[in-house]
Amino acid sequence: MRSSTLRWIILLATFLIALIVGVQLFWLHIVYSYEQKTFNTNVVKSIRGLYEDMDIADTPSNHLQDLVEDPSPDYFLFRVKGKGFSNDSLVHYLKHELNDFDVLTDAHVGFYDARQGKYMAEQYIPAAAARYDPTQKVLAVYKRPHDYVVLYFPHRNKYVLAQMNFWFISTGILFIVLIGLAVILFYFYRQKFLAEVQKDFVNNFTHEFKTPLAVMKISAEVLLQEKIVNQPDKLFKYAHIIQHQTEHLQSQVERLLHIASTDRRELPIEKVKVPVREIIEQAVAKVQPLVEDKEALVEIQDPSMPGYELLADRVHLELAVVNLLENALKYSTKPHVIISAGRENGHLFISVKDNGIGIEKKYQKNLFKKFYRVPTGDVHNVKGFGLGLNFVKRIIEAHHGSIKVNSLPGIGTEFKMLFPL
Ligand code: ADP
Repeated sequence: MRSSTLRWIILLATFLIALIVGVQLFWLHIVYSYEQKTFNTNVVKSIRGLYEDMDIADTPSNHLQDLVEDPSPDYFLFRVKGKGFSNDSLVHYLKHELNDFDVLTDAHVGFYDARQGKYMAEQYIPAAAARYDPTQKVLAVYKRPHDYVVLYFPHRNKYVLAQMNFWFISTGILFIVLIGLAVILFYFYRQKFLAEVQKDFVNNFTHEFKTPLAVMKISAEVLLQEKIVNQPDKLFKYAHIIQHQTEHLQSQVERLLHIASTDRRELPIEKVKVPVREIIEQAVAKVQPLVEDKEALVEIQDPSMPGYELLADRVHLELAVVNLLENALKYSTKPHVIISAGRENGHLFISVKDNGIGIEKKYQKNLFKKFYRVPTGDVHNVKGFGLGLNFVKRIIEAHHGSIKVNSLPGIGTEFKMLFPL
């Protein structure tokens, strides 16, 4: 399974997880509404019980809708006649009714007198779990043309939520499980990605070493022919090929070892004043065989580069430019490379620009990672280890600089190294 397939699976999994979370939240909302409704119904049932217990109704209507009103979620009003019953016994019966119907939260009761337009008396019905100081609360007055008793539940919301404890706990557990699942998926993806990176590396590694070894083997066979001593030209040619290939292999091995050995440590940097122009010229000279091989045009812009100097490690800085130049040549079919240097916002920059295949935006952020190569399907026709740019970045970091990439697929790429002045 390629990591692209895995990416789709992960996307799907993320979508499913989001869906489960959404559905669960929706259910919580439904349960909350249900619990609220149950609470209201139970309060109304308690009031109906109270009407049955005592003769307090002020109208002959026995429709609860006419008698009970719910002007806000925490308040219930029910009509009573002004006289003929004691407040204490009403509260006494009310307590029983609320208990019977499982309304187990505290309530604040007020007796409204329509002529006076205010509450004439108030009482508090405490509950085990709720604490409340009724003297601190002024009951909201609802102006009505008739007398009524108000029931205010200060902890109604808390009580309703407390009824949902089971739901909260199960939702919490579900979320923890989902988070665990997401973390596992993420690690799985990372592992898979790393494994792929390693596989690519081994593939490239084999490519890079197989060709020179095959060439050397053939050359050695030629040299082993008896009549070769009579053909000094041929002998010289094949010995030269072997030498060239050995050097190439050696430099590759050294490069690998160098990167591996400097894995953790900072690069050993020896800073001296170096003229930028000189570094660039030397780097171009190093890649001359490649330039000729590809019939490339390499241009150093602004030939004077007015005496730019940089406090830097000569060898490493040159290596950085060489690496960028090599890439510019490698990843262009008919290379035209422009190298320039200059000052920009308190920095000195060295830029290497090509007219090559370019790099898609989505790959650009990974370029400097070790072993990273832009995916081009299974076969790379340009060989490499994906180490060059990583090395360049480390060199620049050792100089406290930065590197920027600017690239358009099919148009070309510019790498710009910036060093603080
Ligand atoms: P490699 O050994 O693969 O060249 P690098 O670290 O030098 O490793 O580069 C990483 C990847 O970045 C390359 O595989 C290539 O796909 C891409 N790349 C680097 N330089 C260029 C460039 N100038 N133009 C296009 N692609 C580039």
